[in-house]
Amino acid sequence: MNLWVLLDTQIEDVCTYLSDKNHEITSGLSEEELSLFETNAKLSFYTVFNRFLLASGILVLILALALLYFTRQYATQQKQRNRPPTSAVLARIYGAIMKTYTVHCSCNRIELSLCGEPRARVICHCIDCRELLDGPFYPVTVWTDQTASITHGESNLSTYKHPRLKMKKYFCTNCGEVLFNTNSVDWRAVPQWLIAKNHNNQLPQELTAVTHVFYEQRIIDVSDNLPKHLRGFSSPLFEG
Ligand SMILES: [Zn+2]
Ligand SMILES: [Zn+2]
Repeated sequence: MNLWVLLDTQIEDVCTYLSDKNHEITSGLSEEELSLFETNAKLSFYTVFNRFLLASGILVLILALALLYFTRQYATQQKQRNRPPTSAVLARIYGAIMKTYTVHCSCNRIELSLCGEPRARVICHCIDCRELLDGPFYPVTVWTDQTASITHGESNLSTYKHPRLKMKKYFCTNCGEVLFNTNSVDWRAVPQWLIAKNHNNQLPQELTAVTHVFYEQRIIDVSDNLPKHLRGFSSPLFEG
């Protein structure tokens, strides 16, 4: 019993001792020493804070670089497959990295976006193109339905299906302009004149034709330096 009384008294003494300001750890220091002590404590805090900021900054930078790197890798892979990403956000980034060409019909109601590189860029002399499009030959860029997409005014788009050929043409109901035609595998053939008309009458160099195809079906001779395949890409060249 006496032991508890003794302990209680001791605890009370200790509390009284600690609550006395003069017995703080800094007691006994001069004003100058005290202010130096406080400054050092502040400096130490700032040093730790600065290190924390620096470490966070480096971490954020590493994450941003990693994100950029993987996005670019992804976009490049998609470009090799000639397909834009399915996610809207990535498609936006892809669009910013890849070149995009925007074309409209004459009345501007329909907008067609061409993204990345076309599958082919040729001047076609085949009888089917002639029959569908009513021209002597067809200078064209060929895209997939993912790289050539209607981005505005789709309700104005009408389709004409050729009764015999597996070809369709897509045109504006209002102005009649043909935006593209499709073949049996639904690739989209966009006329070069439509792209040129939307780029100050100048076809972008990277979209110009690199070869003639089906030259043996021609009705007009063309004199230029491009190779002239008698039929498809792997057929013999015309020697004239
Ligand atoms: Zn139109
Ligand atoms: Zn053709």
